[in-house]
This record gives sequence, C-alpha cells and structure tokens, in this order.
Amino acid sequence: MIRRALLSVSDKTGLADLGKALAARGVELVSTGGTAKALRDAGLTVMDISDLTGFPEMMDGRVKTLHPKVHGGLLAVRDNPEHAAAMAEHAIGAIDLVVVNLYPFEATVAKGAERDEVIENIDIGGPSMVRSAAKNHDYVTILTDAADYDAFLAELEQTGGASTLPFRRAMAAKAYAATAAYDAAISQWFARVDQQHHFPPVLASAHKLVTTLRYGENPHQAAALYVPRNPDTPGLPQARQVQGKELSYNNYNDANAALELVAEFAGKKPTVVIVKHANPCGVATADTLLDAWKDALECDSVSAFGGIVATNVPLDGPTANAICEIFTEVVVAPGADDAAKEAFARKKNLRLLLIDSLPDADRAGLNTVPIAGGLLVQDRDNGKLEPAELKVVTKRAPTEQELADALFAWTVAKHVKSNAIVYAKAGVTAGIGAGQMNRRDSSRIAAAKAKEAAETFGWSEAKTVGAAVASDAFFPFADGLLAAVEAGATCVIQPGGSMRDEEVIKAADEAGLAMVFTGMRHFRH
Ligand code: 5GP
Repeated sequence: MIRRALLSVSDKTGLADLGKALAARGVELVSTGGTAKALRDAGLTVMDISDLTGFPEMMDGRVKTLHPKVHGGLLAVRDNPEHAAAMAEHAIGAIDLVVVNLYPFEATVAKGAERDEVIENIDIGGPSMVRSAAKNHDYVTILTDAADYDAFLAELEQTGGASTLPFRRAMAAKAYAATAAYDAAISQWFARVDQQHHFPPVLASAHKLVTTLRYGENPHQAAALYVPRNPDTPGLPQARQVQGKELSYNNYNDANAALELVAEFAGKKPTVVIVKHANPCGVATADTLLDAWKDALECDSVSAFGGIVATNVPLDGPTANAICEIFTEVVVAPGADDAAKEAFARKKNLRLLLIDSLPDADRAGLNTVPIAGGLLVQDRDNGKLEPAELKVVTKRAPTEQELADALFAWTVAKHVKSNAIVYAKAGVTAGIGAGQMNRRDSSRIAAAKAKEAAETFGWSEAKTVGAAVASDAFFPFADGLLAAVEAGATCVIQPGGSMRDEEVIKAADEAGLAMVFTGMRHFRH
C-alpha cells in the first residue's frame, strides 16, 4: 500500500492532478520547497521536507533531501527485522512513492548559461532519491517522467492503492536510464568545457580518452585521442614515444598512414615509407635499410621535406643519420639500435615512436566517417590479392621483374588516396599520383614527378621508363593508360571491369604492354 509519497520536481507538469489523486486515497504528501508550494496552491495539505528531516533546506537548496530520514525511508527492506528495528530506533518512516524529475541541466547548458548557473543545475539530491527508490523497487515506486503518471494512477486503481512489481521494475529501469543520461550530459559538458572537445556519446561509451591534443587538423579545431575501452583487437602495436615534441593530430594521422603501409611489408626485405598529408610520397624495399631510405627519398624529395617515415625493421645508425639530414616530423619503427637513438637525439624536435611490433596488415576492423547527421561505418580495407587470381589480359605476359614491381605498386596504391596511380621499378616507387578527380591526371602527375626526380638527380631517364604502373580502380578510358605508356611504363596492374576494358586492352596490346587484372579495387577517399 502506498501511504507516504515524496514529491520533488523541477518540472511541475501534471503535479497537481497527481497530488490530488494521491490525497484522495489518503496518501500523505511530503515535498521540497517549490513542489510543496505548488501542491498547496492546488489546495492540498503537504508536509515540508524540513519537518521530516528536522533540518532546514540549506545551502541554496544544495542540501534538501540528503538525510537518513529520507534515504532510510526509501532503502529499508520492509520485511527485514534489522532494518525495521533501525527504522523504529531512529524514527524513520517508510516512503512508498517517489516522484522526482531533476534540475534542468541540459536546458540550462542549451540556453548558454554561465558556468556557475550550470553547476548549480547539477542535481544531487534528486538523482540520489531516484537511485535509492529504484534500488528498492521491491517496495518503492519511482516516477521520473510525468508521462507515466496516468499509468501509475491506473495501477493504484487496479490494485486498490498500490502498484504491481512489474510496473515498479519497469519504472526503476527507466529511472536508472534517466540518471545515467543525466550524468552523461554532465560529463559531456565537462568534456566540452575543459577539453574544448565534443566526442559523439556513442563512441565515448566504447572509448576512453588518452589525451587532448593541442588542436585538430587546423588550429581552430579541438581534438583528442581516444582508444578502445576494451582493446580486443589482437595484432595492434603498443607505441612508445622516445623523444621529440608532443605529437599533433596530423602527426598521429600521418604516422598511422605510414605504419599501415609499411606493415604490408612485415617480414620482407628492409622497407621505408615516407608519408606526407596521409599519402605516401616514396616507398622502397632494398637489401639494406639505408638503401631503402635513399631510394624512397629520391622518388619525391620535394614532398619528403617535413615528412613522416616508417620502417619495417629496426632503425640502424647509418639510416638514422641519413634521415636526420632532412627535416622529418616523425619516425616510427619496430625498434632502434643505440647508434640510431644517438643520431636522433641530436634532433630534439624529431618525434621518435618505437613500436613493439608492426600491426597486422590483414586484421579485421571498422572504419568510421562522420557525415552530416550520421556516421558511415565500413570494414577496414584488408582485401588481399591472391597472385593466382591475377589475370593476364594482354598478348604479352609480364616478366618476373615486371610482375614483382606490379605487385609492389599495387600494395602501395592501396594506401594512396584515389585516384591513385603508382609507378614502381625494382622495388622502388618511381612516381605517385594521388587524390586527383580523374585517373589521367593522376597518371600524368606521377610521371611528371618521376621526370623531375630524374632531372634533380641527373639520371639519364625517369624511373617510369620500364616501370610497372598500378591503378587503384579500372581505367574508364584508354587515356590514363596511354599517359602511362607515354611515361615509358611496360606493365600495368589494375582491377579491370570497365565497360571499355576491350578498348583499354587493345591500347595496351598496341603499345606492347603486359597488363594484369586483379578483380579487386582499392578506393581510398
Ligand atoms: P523544489 O522545486 O521542490 O524546491 O525542488 C525540486 C528539485 O530539487 C527536484 O528537481 C529535485 O531533484 C531537487 N532536489 C531534491 N532534493 C535535493 C537535494 O538535496 N539537493 C539538490 N541539489 N537537489 C535536490
């Protein structure tokens, strides 16, 4: 039976009618200041909470209901003799119904209130009562939403003055959802105020904050780094920053791009990747790491300035010294020997990240991209090319070297923003065309870069001559392929599948090219 109700609501909607219905059943009403006044205005008799607790409401209302006479009355297990004895000893009366809605925290934030007013609108006593009552739902009914008053009155009617356990349980579940959402809103406010950063709650629940960053991609953008709360993805490395300035948002993004690409070469010959603006601008494999660095640098030495370097094997002294000759933002590697560490130590600002192992390039995972009004989620691009699935479509088949270069170029192209065109020769990228809105332009840009490199280093010809060229998606027209022929490429690797494949194959045959189709595309936007 419901004999005593405690009502304390900020939103007084439906309060008077509920109070009247309760009073009509002889339920005693106890209330806090504003709620008591509203009930009295409706002609009802109300006991003030201060008369129940023997304390005045104090400290601007911060302390009104936080008292054993309230919480004892809410939490006591009615058929537990010890609880009953405690109630008797301390003159605690049972409270059977709690009607509470909380200080309007979100509305206060939304109207742009100052910090002090926002903080004053963090309800403390309200959520405490809600949680106490909901915990003891075996005996106590908790109402946190005016929309439930009618259903509650129907319960009273049906049971002759009580409520059913299923109803109390449903209301308790709703109550905890309400306090959880309330606290989430408060913590989001802190996140915005203190970190100037607003993370989508859906991700915030699954991730934990590692650090706030100075700013995002640009200085007016706030940013932070989060990691999964439960890292259940095997094959991810632990990174340790050994030296250098604090990593920026762009450093993280670029270092990740470099690491993901170099991870494709795990267990292979020494490989160096240089990344700028999340695109590789030079990739090379060689017998020594130093040679790989030199080759990678020569692909596009202009772009490599201020770049991010990743290697697939531990750094050695000669390579570290060579890297130090140009301005490099970040170096990430699976270890470094003492000579390498010493070399880098002379470059105070250079950020050196050492990882315990390379990430697994083939691992599963999700990529998310926020869009206006939502979030796009897709599988990580871990599509793997099985050499047996390659289809030679031209009269001429690739030589062994061409095929090796084609596969190397294809692997790099997977990590280049579309439209991606990558020329490679002897395990070195000869030219990379990235992010163009048509494939022919990417082909031309890559070839022009190769030409510039030849001029810079005094080579007799660009490395695109005799190179293999990879295209991340099919050539929709022969023009992109012809641009590659013009640059001297002799082998092409591409997905195929264009309406005009026949035309493109014909152009390849006429130029004496060898071309293979992968049947798989690697768009990257
Ligand atoms: P009233 O309008 O009745 O004066 O205040 C009602 C509001 O006070 C409700 O939103 C309730 O959650 C909140 N409240 C009740 N007890 C306490 C308390 O002890 N401390 C604080 N900060 N808020 C309380």
